[in-house]
Amino acid sequence: MINYNELKLLRAALGKLEEGFADLPDFTPAFDEIALATVLDEVATRMRDNFPYYHPQYAGQMLKPPHPIARIAYALSLWINPNNHALDGGRASSAMEKECIAQIGAMFGWQAPLGHLTGGGTMANLEALWVAGRLHPGKRIIASSQAHYTHHRISDVLGLRFSAVDVDSNGRMRLTDIERELAKGDVGTVVVTMGNTGLGAVDPLADILKLKERFDFRVHADAAYGGYFTLSDDLDTHARQAFDSLMHVDSIVIDPHKHGLQPYGCGCILYKDPSVGTLYRHDSPYTYFSSAELHLGEISLECSRPGASAVALWATQKLMPLVKDGDFAASLGCSLRAARELHHRLENSPPFVPLMPPELDIVVYAVNAEDTTTSSTAARRLFARAAENGLHLAMIELPTELVGRYLGNIEINSKTLTCLRSALMKPEHEDWCERIVGLLEKSLA
Ligand SMILES: *Cc1c(COP(=O)(O)O)cnc(C)c1O
Repeated sequence: MINYNELKLLRAALGKLEEGFADLPDFTPAFDEIALATVLDEVATRMRDNFPYYHPQYAGQMLKPPHPIARIAYALSLWINPNNHALDGGRASSAMEKECIAQIGAMFGWQAPLGHLTGGGTMANLEALWVAGRLHPGKRIIASSQAHYTHHRISDVLGLRFSAVDVDSNGRMRLTDIERELAKGDVGTVVVTMGNTGLGAVDPLADILKLKERFDFRVHADAAYGGYFTLSDDLDTHARQAFDSLMHVDSIVIDPHKHGLQPYGCGCILYKDPSVGTLYRHDSPYTYFSSAELHLGEISLECSRPGASAVALWATQKLMPLVKDGDFAASLGCSLRAARELHHRLENSPPFVPLMPPELDIVVYAVNAEDTTTSSTAARRLFARAAENGLHLAMIELPTELVGRYLGNIEINSKTLTCLRSALMKPEHEDWCERIVGLLEKSLA
């Protein structure tokens, strides 16, 4: 679980950091080692009450361990504890954040986007919809019925009207339904999900953008989970086409804490048109004295933010640049292949009925049974039994009308079906598929 060489690297880096402050009179805060050790012992014991997220046999929710470089850089920066609200609180880490944003923008083909890191995808989407609402006041937001639930709730918070658009049997927004909504004339923004959280399905962005020839609306891409897959040359044709269109949207959300190997607390919002920055304008009487340069708090709704997140992300992107032929892109390819392999193996395993072929790295599958009610009960039981066998899954409740075409002989006698869901976000999952299916079959027996 733990490679203690990480601590050696952290210690060396801390020495280097400390040298930078050697001119000051010594000031080293002391602490009661015995008291801390006692509490930490209890903390470590309590932390055992977790699923083993770092392990390939955790094949459930979207949980990917941070890269060691992110963990070390994050910890290192805590001896400074920078605040990226204003340059007064985090000079180096603000510069690193701006470089990270430029690199993420470049990954999407944007030259000079406006953007910053956020606490996560929810805050990033909130800012995107806030800007959308300011630019199209009184107009509606529409998103997929499989979009993250946060869009509906954020729209509520912002006082914006929201409607959901149906998805097809691939889990993608239905174009005809989008068109019908746009024709009503009151839609300001279409939220396009680049890999939805439940199914990993990618909305048909290229076709949605074509509708701009006939209707005036803004496009916000929620790529919180799927955004980094734009780097992979292993996507299917539909996903590739959608990702190739990303540069034409107005705003993009991506979560470095989902697929970007970061500790939690790292989302990101990008706007193609930097002039939306003026919407954020405010006059703070407390901050922004140390420099005329941009303080990130001038373009962010959150005020204090962890500089540590920027430091960790910068280090990760330095080690593994966001380029198509790099190690990071290759590791995403492993996840794509893992999902295809798991899907394939489940197709050949009689007790299971996989749903749509995975577009990214999420596989959703039902348990074979007489009818959907029995199948749902079996899925819930399997979820618990698999955990007892050390295999950790997730579940998803789907409308039977969405999944009907995959169910073969399973009679539909309920409105929804409980399915199992595995996000194969660790590149190592590629080598663990056989074992995962073995454990699934064992847990069902
Ligand atoms: C995870 C996710 C979100 C929410 O992001 P948080 O980082 O959990 O706040 C929004 N949209 C999509 C598509 C997601 O996968």
